[in-house]
Amino acid sequence: MKPTASGDGEDLVRYLSTRDVSCPACGYNLRGLTADKCPECNQHLELRVALSEPRLGPYLAAMLGLLAGGGAAFVVVVGAVCISMVQGWPRPDMTWTVFGLPSVMSVVLLVLAAWLLRSRPWFRGLSRAGRGWTIGGCWGLTAMFLAWFLISVAHLA
Ligand SMILES: [Zn+2]
Repeated sequence: MKPTASGDGEDLVRYLSTRDVSCPACGYNLRGLTADKCPECNQHLELRVALSEPRLGPYLAAMLGLLAGGGAAFVVVVGAVCISMVQGWPRPDMTWTVFGLPSVMSVVLLVLAAWLLRSRPWFRGLSRAGRGWTIGGCWGLTAMFLAWFLISVAHLA
């Protein structure tokens, strides 16, 4: 049978000429399809590229833990600098809490995030438990810095 589809549809028809693939909508076996439509449910079909390792969730959860803390700390530093330029520099005993600690926090967490960005193969190779510990560690580190910051703020009052 001669394919009736054109362009990308031709690739789809060629792909399906030798493979058993079921329609994502109705489950009909599309092998030997001659157009870019499912003959059973009449839905349009297209050929796509997908990730071979699509489970990004745990990796993103770990990354988000670092970025949440690092980003928040960075915003505190920038905010403190802006306020200081308008209202004058804070008392010397406030410097560590307002500038020092948030700076250390943002550098540590963002450097770790950059490292994690380059270490995706390592993360993928971890066991399920290892991934869980890594996610917990990322969020734990952010929580620890946040607690340290809040305690430091409370001591200023
Ligand atoms: Zn269908």
